Amino acid sequence: MRRPFSMTRTILVLTVAVFAILTATAQKCSYLGLKSAGQAAYCIDRKDRVAYIRDFGGSADAREQIPHLLEKWDEAHVNKLVINCSHPHLDHMGGLIELASDRANFYTPDGLRFGNGIYVIDRDPKNTLPALLRRTLGSNEKVHHLPAGNRNAFSAVSAIDGDVFMMNIPYEVPSRTDSPSKRVTSHVHDSAVVTLTVLSRKCTILDLDDASTEAIKRVASELRKRSNIREFDAVIISHHGSKNNDNGPLLDAFQFRKVVFAVNEDNRFGHPDTTVVVQAIKKVGAGNVLFTGSDDAIEFDPTGVKFVYSATNAAGFRAFILPNLLRASSEDREFLRELDPTRDTQRPKFQIESQPNKDTKSELSTWAKTWEAVIEYARKLQDDMRDSIKEEGGPAKVVK
Ligand SMILES: [Zn+2]
Repeated sequence: MRRPFSMTRTILVLTVAVFAILTATAQKCSYLGLKSAGQAAYCIDRKDRVAYIRDFGGSADAREQIPHLLEKWDEAHVNKLVINCSHPHLDHMGGLIELASDRANFYTPDGLRFGNGIYVIDRDPKNTLPALLRRTLGSNEKVHHLPAGNRNAFSAVSAIDGDVFMMNIPYEVPSRTDSPSKRVTSHVHDSAVVTLTVLSRKCTILDLDDASTEAIKRVASELRKRSNIREFDAVIISHHGSKNNDNGPLLDAFQFRKVVFAVNEDNRFGHPDTTVVVQAIKKVGAGNVLFTGSDDAIEFDPTGVKFVYSATNAAGFRAFILPNLLRASSEDREFLRELDPTRDTQRPKFQIESQPNKDTKSELSTWAKTWEAVIEYARKLQDDMRDSIKEEGGPAKVVK
């Protein structure tokens, strides 16, 4: 009778070992929750030992996140760092400046943390990050600068059959001309770096960053020309859901399973705009519209996505839809009033692993019945945030 027992045990041990290996090598990509306005994401290719960081929010958030990031990098024994900066604004580049300014982030007790080099991929005319890195590190570490205006800027660091593949979608928005006499140079959001990340050849994440409407149109047509992917697992909506950036040209041209807003609650900028949220809900269903928030990350892996806030859970609705409801058009308000969480279009391929919020559905339907109470609550919120709605941004500066 010993034999079947030991056989069962062997199978059990093997199963646990296989599971452990699978879990350890599973590729993940996280969009971080931030306390201040901004966007930040990172991926780790555990097989090739490459750390990718795509924007890093503002400096205060970065100071909080860096120790966790270093821990994760060392755990995965990464030896190459790829820094991708979408555009030189403080809410995207501020954290990267913070990271690049401290030598301690680039050394372990054994020596260089990134023995295989550091790569910067951006479109910053001032070359802020490569210059800063060279100043911080001297000639000790190899810093390579790859301009993201070029096609395949990432080809030196990631391959299509790799566990993490990243590519930029090049496009050119010509300088805007308001009148024949007055030439207006293009806005920095006209040259934001739009990327596609693919995890283990399965999970596709398109990140628009703060791309302008003109840039989004060009990205949509470039994508149609350059690849035959027509369905993506997720899109990171442009500019934290700002009303000035129309994602329509892209949302109409492709299918997305999730629409993600990289936005923190209580921001002063009116992000995300209700019209943009409603547009997203109409495309993918409210349960597939996600928000990053300020604490937990939205985490993608090849089998699904983990998240806390969606447009159907009460916490997500309260934090990201209610505060801007009063500014919404009456049609949008009416649409949200009718929002029925059970009508979600769930697409089977991309599994959802949300943190379950048990009372969500009942709570929301209660709200729908007492819409006047919802409006009243929104009014209170707006009073609290009366101190003006401004555009964020402003050029990133290196603080000496
Ligand atoms: Zn931004």
